[in-house]
Amino acid sequence: MTMTELVACLQCGLPKPPADRCTSCGMTPEFGPDRPSPFAGATLWVMIGVIVAVFALTLAVVGITA
Ligand SMILES: [Zn+2]
Repeated sequence: MTMTELVACLQCGLPKPPADRCTSCGMTPEFGPDRPSPFAGATLWVMIGVIVAVFALTLAVVGITA
């Protein structure tokens, strides 16, 4: 049986499993410095697509009604 190496919680500093929430303060691992950026890859392109769609829709509405 191998013990999972514990890491220090970023919030309270107590040791916790790296993939789990902190058992003492509930800090989630998503906010750690080693996590990949949430705004990379597919999420970034979805956000760009939504912004372009809203811009195009607004441009069309303004173009029709002006
Ligand atoms: Zn903690």
